[in-house]
Amino acid sequence: PNNLQGKVAIITGAANGIGAEIARDFEHRGAKVFLTDIADEAGEATAKEIGSNAAFMHHNVSDEAGWPAVFEQCEAIFGKADILINNAGIEVTAFITECELEDFRKLMDVNVGGVFLGLKHGMKQMSVANGGKGGAILNLSSMAHLIASVGFGPYGATKSAVDKLTKVAAVEAGALGAGVRVNCLYPGIIDTGMQDKLGQDLLTMGVFPDAQALQEYVIARTPLKRTGTPADVAKAAAYLCSDEAEFITGVGMSVDGGMALG
Ligand code: NAD
Repeated sequence: PNNLQGKVAIITGAANGIGAEIARDFEHRGAKVFLTDIADEAGEATAKEIGSNAAFMHHNVSDEAGWPAVFEQCEAIFGKADILINNAGIEVTAFITECELEDFRKLMDVNVGGVFLGLKHGMKQMSVANGGKGGAILNLSSMAHLIASVGFGPYGATKSAVDKLTKVAAVEAGALGAGVRVNCLYPGIIDTGMQDKLGQDLLTMGVFPDAQALQEYVIARTPLKRTGTPADVAKAAAYLCSDEAEFITGVGMSVDGGMALG
């Protein structure tokens, strides 16, 4: 498929996991990809592996002063920016009664603050009213927004905030005549480093007795009877960011094999 031919995409948190796979997938579909992350070594390596249609830049998504440079660098290298994927995020799984305030604040700072800043600067940069050419922004919310599972209070709260920001941004982008579409994804259990840590945390908390019990629970609860891969998420991201979705804005799409349904 070449449904992203000629597009230029900025992807945050693209050194590893879902973000790295979105970068690979988008490049296969004809896009040029600008990767940002705080993990410099992994970020450089991922960009190098993708090749000359990829570039990497160090950026912490919760650092507002660094956001204009992300767009400037991307435009200097690839000439424009049509797509922004606000993917960077961190995970803390903890009972509300046990969660340290410092950890809660860090989650809010990265998962909510990072998306807020991406929207704030992305919508300005891309807005037609501002001299931009329009575009598509995609935020990574989570199945944790849709369900109320033990241990996901703090993390889920950040992902519900991402959902709300997505929907208000979609409306504001339209009201400003910005020509920018804003959507989000609710991935379920996706095999990445984050998911490994989350599984370990649930075992440490005693929510599941062992890894096998956790795996069996997940499969039993998932209509499509498997966990997800970063490629599953990348395919949904590609659709929502392509012109095939040109009349779609303000939606959240589950990529969870049906797990959140019940
Ligand atoms: P991951 O931990 O594998 O990768 C996240 C990347 O973000 C890392 O490269 C990390 O260095 C980077 N990052 C962290 N803090 C950053 C910051 N302040 N600035 C810039 N980069 C930063 O995680 P993943 O599983 O690929 O998750 C990607 C996104 O998808 C996250 O927003 C996550 O919450 C969301 N998500 C993941 C799952 C899952 O099951 N894996 C499910 C639902 C939603």
